[in-house]
Amino acid sequence: MITEEKKEEKNLNFIEEIIEADLQSGKYEQIVTRFPPEPNGYLHIGHASSICLNFGLTQKFPGYTNLRFDDTNPVTEDTEYVESIKNDIRWMGFEWKNELYASDYFDTLYEFALKFINAGLAYVDDSTSEEIAALKGTPTEPGKDSPYRNRSIEENLALFEQMKNGDFPDGSRTLRAKIDMAHINMLMRDPILYRIKHAHHHRTGNKWCIYPMYDFAHGQSDSIENVTHSICTLEFAPHRELYDWLIAKLEIYPSHQYEFARRNLNYTVTSKRKLLQLVQDGHVNGWDDPRMPTLSGLRRRGYTPESIRDFCDRIGVARRENMIDVGLLEFCVREDLNKKALRRMVVLDPLKVLITNFPEGVIEMCHSENNPEDIASGMREIPFSREIFIEKEDFLEIPTKKYFRLAPGKMVRLKGAYIIQCDDFVKDENGEITEVHCSYIENSKSGQDTTGINVKGTLHWVSAPHAVSVEIRLYDRLFSVENVSGEEGDFKDYINPESLSIITGYAEPALTDTKPGEAFQFLRKGYFATDTDSKTEKPVFNRTVTLRDNWAKAAEK
Ligand code: ATP
Ligand code: MG
Repeated sequence: MITEEKKEEKNLNFIEEIIEADLQSGKYEQIVTRFPPEPNGYLHIGHASSICLNFGLTQKFPGYTNLRFDDTNPVTEDTEYVESIKNDIRWMGFEWKNELYASDYFDTLYEFALKFINAGLAYVDDSTSEEIAALKGTPTEPGKDSPYRNRSIEENLALFEQMKNGDFPDGSRTLRAKIDMAHINMLMRDPILYRIKHAHHHRTGNKWCIYPMYDFAHGQSDSIENVTHSICTLEFAPHRELYDWLIAKLEIYPSHQYEFARRNLNYTVTSKRKLLQLVQDGHVNGWDDPRMPTLSGLRRRGYTPESIRDFCDRIGVARRENMIDVGLLEFCVREDLNKKALRRMVVLDPLKVLITNFPEGVIEMCHSENNPEDIASGMREIPFSREIFIEKEDFLEIPTKKYFRLAPGKMVRLKGAYIIQCDDFVKDENGEITEVHCSYIENSKSGQDTTGINVKGTLHWVSAPHAVSVEIRLYDRLFSVENVSGEEGDFKDYINPESLSIITGYAEPALTDTKPGEAFQFLRKGYFATDTDSKTEKPVFNRTVTLRDNWAKAAEK
């Protein structure tokens, strides 16, 4: 037994407590877990929780984790998904002991089915799915026996063989367990074990036209693999009774199922079926669209594996379902990128500034840290010249009281360069400010400042003749409501039409040579990652996340 005190000390979640007790009691010497995705789509942030849990357990305790593809539904499954799933798990930083497929057990499962028939515990039912549903009963009323329930063992064996041989069309017959049509658990009312599906399977090809149902495949696969702790989400809790019943009747290795709460993120959907619709209907540009909550989308957006693991750690393992705020995920990636991302200056909405007392044609090199959080990242050169760009929003003709950016007569520091003072500005015929005239203060260069002038605002900037134009993709939430699945009607009605905007930015030259996946902090603008569409002649960046608001707030003061 573990005392309350010890639990506190170790900070174990409820599944870890069960495992620790199982190891201490000597029930197991090592544990075996598995991550069992169905290869019918790309992994999403919800799966990340399950991955971190299953693989995390065998990092903490002796044992190993298998990757098992739960590929019993040929219609929706594909090798493309298998490959993406493997890639995503490795990217998350985990490695499985064995790569397994439920479809590898089709022969064994068929043998198991024969055992049930021979024991008088399964029968072939000629009812349609509607007829089966009609006799199922309700949670408060018992169901009724199928007219085919009392077929002889011989007849069942012959019919099941015919099912296997392809003699019957899809949906015309099923194999059902013979349990109890009045069972209090509806799932125990003669559950379907096999159905007919004349479909090509991504691994077994056309060998089979009958396929086992989830319940008949999952527990038995766990058992075949000697999985000790089979962890799934809460909706499978009512299935546990059937899971145990099938294993007990077959007298095979007793795996045990444990359930934890599904993880749902607000402002998005975490269901492969819904994500597939978004892809197929063209609401997003593929599974790895940076707005998608898929691991491939998050990766392209600039999320790091460390940040996703940190997120999964922080939300932990719960017994009750709840909605997680996407803000926590954003917090985790900021924390991580703050340590890693190189700082660069990019102006997203340019306003030209002429430094009137700086000589024409002269280029002066300034230096700035690549990342003040990481001294080893060194310094970079930034060219300074008479014409620069700053953000339009960093100049106000009539400043408010707490505005410490540029305004007539005011001084600001240009990051890594000089203090400048605004002398004048030019307006066009529409009254829009097109150019600001400033003078730079001699001897005020960053790191060599001897002026003693104290300015409150620091602006990012780029030298206009050196500016590299880059494509910047700014993302907002994919859905405009918090609880997408909780809304009425079609979930697609709640798609945010403004989830993507593409702009041109002006970057300092140090951003020219960038490769997909590299992470940057664009000063004062957020964290950005080089997109897979990026080319040397036309760099493309995704905004991963905005900066925490402190900077903006501090600058207003
Ligand atoms: P989806 O509805 O997205 O298809 P699923 O549960 O059908 O989800 P599987 O491929 O069967 O997807 O999932 C593999 C594993 O990941 C399962 O053990 C499942 O319980 C777990 N999982 C799936 N979604 C979540 C989630 N949102 N939170 C936690 N675990 C999840
Ligand atoms: Mg599933």
